[in-house]
Amino acid sequence: MGNLCNIPEIFGTDVFNDMTMQQRLPAQTYAAWKSCLQTGCSLPLDVANVIAEAMKEWAIEKGATHYTHWFQPMTGITAEKHDSFISPTGDGRVIMEFSGKELVRGEPDASSFPSGGLRATFEARGYTAWDPTAFAFVKDGSLYIPTCFFSYTGEALDKKTPLLRSLDEVSREALRILRLFGDDKTQRVQVSVGAEQEYFLIPKSLYAQREDLRLTGRTLFGAQPPKGQELDDHYFGTIRTRVSNFMKDLDEQLWRLGILAKTKHNEGAPCQHELAPIYSDASNACDANQLTMMIMKKCAAKHDLVCLLHEKPFAGISGSGKHNNWSLCTDSGKNLFKAGDTPRQNAQFLVFLAAFIKGIDEYQDFLRSTVAYAGNDHRLGANEAPPAILSIFLGDELTAVMESIINGTNYTDPEKSLVRIGVDVLPSIPKDTTDRNRTSPIAFTGNKFEFRMLGSSQSIAGPNIALNTIMAEELGKFADVLENAEDFDSALQKLICDTLTEHQRIIFNGNGYSLQWQAEAERRGLSNLRSTAKSLPTYISPKNIELVTKRGIFTEAEFRARYEIHMAAYSKITRIEAKTMVDMVLQQILPAGLKYSSDLSESVLRKQKLGLSADSDLDLVRRISKCCDKLYRKTEEMAAHLRDIPAGTEASADYYSDVIVPDMEDVRRSADLLERLTAKSYWPYPIYSDILYY
Ligand code: ADP
Ligand code: MG
Repeated sequence: MGNLCNIPEIFGTDVFNDMTMQQRLPAQTYAAWKSCLQTGCSLPLDVANVIAEAMKEWAIEKGATHYTHWFQPMTGITAEKHDSFISPTGDGRVIMEFSGKELVRGEPDASSFPSGGLRATFEARGYTAWDPTAFAFVKDGSLYIPTCFFSYTGEALDKKTPLLRSLDEVSREALRILRLFGDDKTQRVQVSVGAEQEYFLIPKSLYAQREDLRLTGRTLFGAQPPKGQELDDHYFGTIRTRVSNFMKDLDEQLWRLGILAKTKHNEGAPCQHELAPIYSDASNACDANQLTMMIMKKCAAKHDLVCLLHEKPFAGISGSGKHNNWSLCTDSGKNLFKAGDTPRQNAQFLVFLAAFIKGIDEYQDFLRSTVAYAGNDHRLGANEAPPAILSIFLGDELTAVMESIINGTNYTDPEKSLVRIGVDVLPSIPKDTTDRNRTSPIAFTGNKFEFRMLGSSQSIAGPNIALNTIMAEELGKFADVLENAEDFDSALQKLICDTLTEHQRIIFNGNGYSLQWQAEAERRGLSNLRSTAKSLPTYISPKNIELVTKRGIFTEAEFRARYEIHMAAYSKITRIEAKTMVDMVLQQILPAGLKYSSDLSESVLRKQKLGLSADSDLDLVRRISKCCDKLYRKTEEMAAHLRDIPAGTEASADYYSDVIVPDMEDVRRSADLLERLTAKSYWPYPIYSDILYY
């Protein structure tokens, strides 16, 4: 560290990637692996054995002693269980072994992962299987093998399996459209994803003193400091040395793992930062984002910092999200959301654009519910960007194109006849990098859509599964119409015009934070699901179940299992937070307030004895006592409510949302007032200004 590293030299050195496989595998093994990737068939055991041997040799050279099947259970984070390569030889010694069987299949005793009722108790095991589309890598002395995780009966227990299914599905339907436009070369349409990751970094020593941060990842208490982010002096500001050392270290570790870490900067709130990678295919991007979050945490610890990935670590300043940049691209690298140079290409672009617009409008609730999460409730629909209402920002040029198609006018010259799709040329659509609308939940930025509702701690798999599935559905429906059309051009014209007309309500270029937009959105009939408890139940609406089962992304049981898990997680997280508050009030906050007021009272008595004025002390004691009483009462009320949770998934989530969350706000208000009234030397833990301006 500190020294300059040679990036091209270190990039991907800890990954058993294509190049390494080519170098280390016999030619026919390499070819067999490649053909499995192309055809999607499973790897013959003899091939797996050769790959496993080569992988083990390579990993041991990199210092690995263990291997692990790495998977993405429905908790939203990743899981690993490490086995060493050792195998006894019978004479008291060991050799290092790793077989093809161990590479392709694992049986972690995974009965404690949430399964949403998918696994019966008699078959509580889960199985892992190598995903040969993702490369193995070495980290912290272990060989990591990216795997899918499923039950004995074959149900997906993870986030990766449905993601892979959705990628196949959107590729299949996109190819049908491409064929209609005369493309008979493309074999695969890929989804490109670039996930920008926001996070906070705070000193470890301060973090350690706060039970709320340690147990819940966010501050449950804290009066507003005199300075917030109103001066905008942190955004893109100079990065302080300790943080920039962390970032250098992080970049290097990510590069070694083949992750394309590209951009880093300070974000809006004090102590807030962002890392953006260069986009890659969706499955890879999902793995990379999980690894990035994991390494951020580890790397921070090395620098005596703590990385907070929570969506809202501090009240009153910006929270953290994730921007999911999403586009479709052919295997020869053509971006399907880029307007072309010829009328034909433009027509094809409009088909993909119209399908996206229609899909988002029709499945608003589905997409919204994939980002429903306790932490994200502090952003979406609260006083922060983006709003809980889904809409698409298209920008001026494209909106003008859309309107002229709908109104049958010409976009360059209203005097001229209507736009004929496939004949007229679109105005050039610039890749929007400047005046983009930051308040929109989905912004078209020239050749991709930026979906901004994701919470910073969440896996990006869920929203990408939804985007892919929705897109597959709409492209499939379009293909059905166009393949059967007698006159392709007029069918195309009608399809695009009708679709844009019917779904234009989802387009909104204005200020998404404004109250007017909320009223306007309601008039347009757009949904506004402000909380997890309100939003998640729409996930399993009959329409969504039909979509995901018809498209083969989830079985109904798999889909419902996810719903159960997410709902339960919401209740559990809220419960932990509320209980932590009770703990902190009774054991730390109230004792501090009471001690201070008792010390003040004694001083009042002493002063009065001496005939001195004690007005200020007396006034403070009164105010503090009142505040303590109220805090105590509110806390006891919340504790009582916590003993009264109704049974049932929906009933308990609703109760947490409608009763406990408002209780928590009440308790916090009193505690924060007490913090202001109490001398700092009495306060039991670091306050906002200590942490944010360390
Ligand atoms: P910003 O949003 O910070 O201004 P960009 O829009 O250039 O920056 O890029 C943000 C993210 O979008 C990066 O991760 C980038 O790699 C990714 N990205 C760029 N083009 C595409 C694309 N066609 N498809 C998916 N992601 C993309
Ligand atoms: Mg961006």
